[in-house]
Amino acid sequence: MIATGIVIIPVLISPLPEFKTPLSTVVEASDGSLIGARIADDGQWRFPSTGQLPEKFKKALLTFEDRYFYYHPGINPFSLFRALRDNIKAGKIVRGGSTITMQVARLSRGSRSRTYGEKFIEIIGAVKLEIFKSKKRILQMYSDNAPFGGNIVGLDAASWRYTGKSPDDITWAEAAALAVLPNSPSLVYPGRNQEILKIRRDELLQKLYERKYFDSLSLVLAIDEPLPGEPKPLPSKAPHLTDLFYVRNRGERIRTTIDPVLQERAAEIINYHQKELAGNFIFNSAALIVDVPTGEVLAYIGNSTSPGLSSHGEDVDIIRSLRSTGSILKPILYAGMQQSGELLPNTLVADIPTRFPGFTPENFDQSFSGAVPASTALAQSLNIPAVGMLKKYTPERFLELLKNTGFTTFDKTAEHYGLSLILGGGETSLWELTGVYASLSRILGRFNGENKYVNGDYHPPVLLPGNSNPVEISSESTLPLSAASIWLTYEALRKVNRPETETGWQYFTSAPEIAWKTGTSFGFRDAWAIGTTPDYVIGVWAGNADGEGRPGLTGISSAAPVLFDLVGLMRPATWFTPPPEEMTNIRVCRNSGYRAGPDCPDTEEVSVCLNGLRSDACPYHRIIHLNKSKTRQVTSNCLPAEEIINESWFVLPPAMEYFYRKKHSEYKPLPPFAAGCRPEKSFPVMEFIYPTPGIKIFIPRDHTGEMTRVIPEVVHRNSSKRIFWHLDDKYITTTKQIHQTEILAPAGNHVLTVVDEDGNTLTCSFNIIGESK
Ligand SMILES: [Zn+2]
Repeated sequence: MIATGIVIIPVLISPLPEFKTPLSTVVEASDGSLIGARIADDGQWRFPSTGQLPEKFKKALLTFEDRYFYYHPGINPFSLFRALRDNIKAGKIVRGGSTITMQVARLSRGSRSRTYGEKFIEIIGAVKLEIFKSKKRILQMYSDNAPFGGNIVGLDAASWRYTGKSPDDITWAEAAALAVLPNSPSLVYPGRNQEILKIRRDELLQKLYERKYFDSLSLVLAIDEPLPGEPKPLPSKAPHLTDLFYVRNRGERIRTTIDPVLQERAAEIINYHQKELAGNFIFNSAALIVDVPTGEVLAYIGNSTSPGLSSHGEDVDIIRSLRSTGSILKPILYAGMQQSGELLPNTLVADIPTRFPGFTPENFDQSFSGAVPASTALAQSLNIPAVGMLKKYTPERFLELLKNTGFTTFDKTAEHYGLSLILGGGETSLWELTGVYASLSRILGRFNGENKYVNGDYHPPVLLPGNSNPVEISSESTLPLSAASIWLTYEALRKVNRPETETGWQYFTSAPEIAWKTGTSFGFRDAWAIGTTPDYVIGVWAGNADGEGRPGLTGISSAAPVLFDLVGLMRPATWFTPPPEEMTNIRVCRNSGYRAGPDCPDTEEVSVCLNGLRSDACPYHRIIHLNKSKTRQVTSNCLPAEEIINESWFVLPPAMEYFYRKKHSEYKPLPPFAAGCRPEKSFPVMEFIYPTPGIKIFIPRDHTGEMTRVIPEVVHRNSSKRIFWHLDDKYITTTKQIHQTEILAPAGNHVLTVVDEDGNTLTCSFNIIGESK
């Protein structure tokens, strides 16, 4: 009775043993395999519990430590008595007689010296555990917290560090060695300890064999297996992702969406290309692969990890870093303008020298084609047409569109970005970029016939299964970009032209069906490439984490080859299907790509967004009057009506024509007027390239303090004509062929007038903002 009281009262008042020790951060792939871990705050490798105990280890542990575990109430009087007897005989504590439950109670109290007082506390704790916890749970607590030598705690960490494998995959020999270790963790160290460890392991294997857990051949093979030696390094398949969770979910076990095989192979590809890039002092690259239907991240290579490239910022997670976008946003503008009907796929857009105050966009090859179809301008990533398109669409609307599609990084005003927004004036991350393209592909892939916002389809990439975070769309009912506009954009990107002048284009000739786009930021600091199919999106970045630019660092040369190698890892995809309910067929002018007007002679039918019905008619085909031989323009004033031939003529404005003719030998300039035929009204023959009417020009002083000069330029349809220049009604000069001059004018309003030999006149008013000095 008294003896019972001695036990019951302390059990009632004692705390339930529990573990409040810090845990490692463990990051797992989608299949549960380890992709990386970070040590616990107390410097121990102690993994958060999996809640699972593999059979081999369980059998080995119970056989070695506590054969009657399932039958005793936390204490085993027989083994306690035996231990007491042996200890008295030896005059010191030589054995503990502890059950696994008692060891759990002891482990929960940290490492304390073995005294009879402690032993009593352990017994009380063990009884309490047996009352409140299941046998399964107690066994789990033991396995999660047992010491395995050094700073390795718990079976999971021990299995990875000693065998390089998940506990589920260990052999009988490994299970036996791991079952022996917690009893005397120091046995893991090399030397004589290892001999003792081998003896104990082999004895345990023998017992397991006797219990018929395996056959005699397996026993022989198991005894032959080497012992665990030096701890192995833990897998580090996605170090930057592991760091991310170390910050966000410290001490937790995180199951991610990462495909472990793809992750490993994608990292190999990044590191392979990185070696080559390093030859040009480009030291960092990153890639993100996202599954389109779910948005789940399949591979996350935050940076290259090539050995020997250390101290070049490889710790930086580029996927999360903000970088200049270069041209990588152009497809979104194209889609926006298709959606609004402001542009049809092949609408000609101007590609002529263009200067804005403080901003002169240039094409990558610094040439001008005069006019190009919008889809070609997108595929070739021409900068000047893109700026012209943004000017029409406006930076305000574009910024709104970017935000609606899921970008959060463009947090300045449209005025701040201005037209440079389309050429990399803003910054975003590979994370957001890849996420937005995945959303667009999801919208198109799931097109359901209703131009309605599919709740939740716009969301960032997903790292934890089933944990998407839908973007709030400011207009609830309508998609920021319709499936049709995305389809038309992807069709243009699928045909991405690989200009001969770009290095390595041959490399892509066998490229699979993929819509892709590259981008290069100002100063060659960022090389981007992004590609999508209905199944996946791959985003790639190359450059230097510290922002240093390198000549030759371009999207096409540094990022696209990586993109296509990564595409090679993916299973072949079918192409998207167009969304017919969102599209309509209209007749367009084959020359201009605009909706066909009454005077367009050559038309074709194309599928466009519904708003394409509202798009402008072709402005370039006009009926002109010709003589019989079609060599002169005439008017009804100078020729009888029956001798006049009326013909539709494709006439571009002078500046577009000037450059377009150089690349299009089929372009026929307007014939001159017949002698004596004065037109009442004709097409303009001249056009100012600079200044443009109404422009405000800020003129800085040069290094000598002089105001720099303005260099106006005019083009004339007829290259043989001379042009006479007047500034504010004063004659200044005459030009031939190249109509460019220099003027120096004070601050204020000015009028520039040019007159050609035939008396055609063109004026341009502009304003000079002088420096206040
Ligand atoms: Zn036309």
